[in-house]
Amino acid sequence: MTQCIKDLIRNLNLVIGCPVGCSYCYARNNCRRFHITDDFSRPEYYPQKLQILERKKPGNWLLTGMSDLSAWNKEWLEAVFCRLRDNPGHQALLLTKRPDLLQISTDLPNAWFGVTVTRKSELWRLQALKENVKAKHYHVTFEPLFDDPGEVDLSEIDWIVIGTMTGAMKKKVHTEPAWAYSLTAQAHALGIPVFMKEDLVEIIGGENMVQELPGAFESVLEVRKSC
Ligand code: SF4
Repeated sequence: MTQCIKDLIRNLNLVIGCPVGCSYCYARNNCRRFHITDDFSRPEYYPQKLQILERKKPGNWLLTGMSDLSAWNKEWLEAVFCRLRDNPGHQALLLTKRPDLLQISTDLPNAWFGVTVTRKSELWRLQALKENVKAKHYHVTFEPLFDDPGEVDLSEIDWIVIGTMTGAMKKKVHTEPAWAYSLTAQAHALGIPVFMKEDLVEIIGGENMVQELPGAFESVLEVRKSC
């Protein structure tokens, strides 16, 4: 059965707001619709949410569901690192579209840094991530895809996620099955797990879905079941 990624990796929106300005940003739309902040282009930090990372029951968390890591203050990330160091049962993912603006170094085994790639011309982000962020784990999210990324250098990448356009534009732009299959084959050739997001099921069919998690995330889910 196809799984929803949000049931496996929960959003922990420590920061809300982003100046990147992607036209398809669902976070900005939600922010406006529910009047969460006055100006989405100015990131706001909610430190009280860090308490979730102190809970004994571990979790897999996406910390940038409504922001981009490149727009975070250094102090916000340091506070996250502090919690992750003290609470190694939790796994945290942080995503950016601007890895060229980052300068991060950490040896934390539970901090995962990723880039989003939406087209072939953005593949430079993988190399920029590895150059500017020295970390134990890297991941890539291919979503939404506007063209075929083609051959991708996935060396040192620990996980890839493949998705498609959602919302009002999904009828106009979608990930072609061949693109998803090619990315999956390239990742599997290197032993990298692949997760196709639930929206792809309408495009490629349930029987072709691949939904793999890194071992560390699977372990968290196992522990949660027994809590
Ligand atoms: S980087 Fe993410 S949060 Fe920022 S505008 Fe683009 S889609 Fe929205």
